[in-house]
Amino acid sequence: MKKIRVRFAPSPTGALHLGGVRTALFNYLFALKHQGDFLLRIEDTDQTRYVKGAEEYIIESLRWCGIEYNEGVGKEGNFGPYRQSDRKEIYKQYADKLIENGGAYFAFDTPEELEEMRKHLESIHSETQQYDAKTRKLMKNSLTLPENEVKERIAKGEPYVIRIKTPENEEIVVQDLIRGAVKFHSEILDDKVLFKSDGMPTYHLANVVDDHLMQISHVIRGEEWLPSTPLHVLLYRFWGWENEMPQFAHLPLILKPDGNGKLSKRDGLKLGFPVYPLRYTDPSTSEVSEGYREWGYLPEAFINMLAFLGWNPGTEQEIFSLNELVDAFSLEKVSKAGAKFDLEKAKWFNHQYLRTSSNQKLTQLFQHFLKQKNIFAENHFVEKVCEVIKERCHLVSEFWGQGFYFFEAPKEYDSATMKKVWKTETPQILCEVKELIKNCSEFSAENLEKIVKNLINEKQYSVGIVFNSLRLAMVGKNFGIDLFKIFEILGKNEVLNRIEAILN
Ligand code: GLU
Repeated sequence: MKKIRVRFAPSPTGALHLGGVRTALFNYLFALKHQGDFLLRIEDTDQTRYVKGAEEYIIESLRWCGIEYNEGVGKEGNFGPYRQSDRKEIYKQYADKLIENGGAYFAFDTPEELEEMRKHLESIHSETQQYDAKTRKLMKNSLTLPENEVKERIAKGEPYVIRIKTPENEEIVVQDLIRGAVKFHSEILDDKVLFKSDGMPTYHLANVVDDHLMQISHVIRGEEWLPSTPLHVLLYRFWGWENEMPQFAHLPLILKPDGNGKLSKRDGLKLGFPVYPLRYTDPSTSEVSEGYREWGYLPEAFINMLAFLGWNPGTEQEIFSLNELVDAFSLEKVSKAGAKFDLEKAKWFNHQYLRTSSNQKLTQLFQHFLKQKNIFAENHFVEKVCEVIKERCHLVSEFWGQGFYFFEAPKEYDSATMKKVWKTETPQILCEVKELIKNCSEFSAENLEKIVKNLINEKQYSVGIVFNSLRLAMVGKNFGIDLFKIFEILGKNEVLNRIEAILN
């Protein structure tokens, strides 16, 4: 059997959308499942859309997600180079071959002439306004011009493009592993440009040539490429590679949370959640887009969430490590229908991973947020904080909101709580607690609770007043985890300081 080889082939036109990450993930899972190869190819033939830094961003995103490619840009293998701009010389011969065997033709039409055709077709209410099997007969190309004129024009250096010659009346069937047989009538296809006047191939030509040369066995990509696939099928045929054609699998679109349309790059800004794995700064506008990493998602949770966008294992299990995903994954379980993005579910996944993550790991992540606030705390202290607040958080970025009081003594006290707990006897009670704490030798939450409760019983104090005034002293408001656990983590000195502070 042919070795399984799949690829992720992004164009470096900006940040990698989460749909792109999902495509990479499904390719990766499929490759691992079948002991195949997973490669990264950068499709940068369209220099007008090239964005500086995008390639690095893509690679860094895959790295953060733990999606490792074993061949590709930066990891040269036997099928390189893996950046299409470094493969320029390869493509022309394939375009020429198509000209020779009648699968393509030269076209000399100027932009004005193309515009004129479009307008004409519009004026006669033609259903399609494209360069295709019908309209090419009226245009300036090697199918309509005499052979010697074609040669002359080329010899003179006149700009031309090479277009695919789509068949006139044929049904092209794309066999898709997810969708079954998808039929396209050639009438709706246009004679796409395969080779441009600047000497560069277009996506279609380079993509098919490279998939062939790189011995790709399965093309797994987003549904938006399905309409291009009949054209690719034709190219395989024209080059005589039909028998080695990869199998296709088009992944369902990721839809906006309300199910209305595709989740686009711009939606992240509008809907208030990231659509990118990592924060991205647009180099031309300096506009910053949020990323899952910076929002405090764990890559394992992000991946688990993405895996469920368009796939499910057919069981109740929802939490999957990467290895478990590899075992459970199959293209048969990928759905045809678009997958709605669900932010609450994404948070839920992250919560599940946060609560089971080690405190050391969470400390590393939380320290980033603390440093941004100019707070420098010892790791062992932050670990203790992580232990007690992780249950309450969905994102690492929420740790601060849940645990700020471990790092900063209250600067002010909530007046409504103050009013409730600050009775005439309160200062006296706090002084007594202070003395007990000062003399306490076993500074554990359990022991502290016992000591304070004894005092309450002995003196018949109000539990509410004692507990809430102490909490106010520690946190500044009625908020936070178990009071005595707060004591234990803050330590004797800090607890005494904070009681002292509220008394003054
Ligand atoms: N370069 C295309 C993209 O940006 C690749 C599509 C494909 O996988 O064939 O998504």
